[in-house]
Amino acid sequence: MLHLMKKRESSFAPLLAALQTVSERLVTCGTCGNVDTQDPCAICSDPRRDARSLCVVEEVSDLWALDKSRLFPGKYHVLGGRLSALEGVRPQDLSIDALVARVAAGGIDEVVLAMNATLEGQTTAHYLAERLEGYPVRLTQLAHGLPVGGELDYLDEGTLAQALRARRPVG
Ligand SMILES: [Zn+2]
Repeated sequence: MLHLMKKRESSFAPLLAALQTVSERLVTCGTCGNVDTQDPCAICSDPRRDARSLCVVEEVSDLWALDKSRLFPGKYHVLGGRLSALEGVRPQDLSIDALVARVAAGGIDEVVLAMNATLEGQTTAHYLAERLEGYPVRLTQLAHGLPVGGELDYLDEGTLAQALRARRPVG
């Protein structure tokens, strides 16, 4: 038994050390809120990605889920959560001013509001649509067909890809 435990320690030690190194190097992208080993992140600094299209998500995990589908050629903006009266999350608690500033800076044609299909996600999308009103951008949202209560990062890639492909104008 002791022998087995010792063996386990020695085989996991390099792996743990590697994970430790990665986690120490992780930084939050100052532009989009993604988590990466560089700032700006790999997505923001990739010239092949379409800077005219911006996809707004609640959490970094949503960004990763969407990006895995490889259907969205643009860039992202991570809010860092969703508005919630229950949990006391207000607009100023999220990266909303930064989003408006990015849109106001120009060069963006389409903003995809890719919130979760939850009440709070949709409330957040409505709020964002209001805040972005008057800017010359096309606002779209993921197609319904997202299961109600559906959290993006739990959806299979096919469902997510479908919702993205069939995205429609807000309002
Ligand atoms: Zn970034």
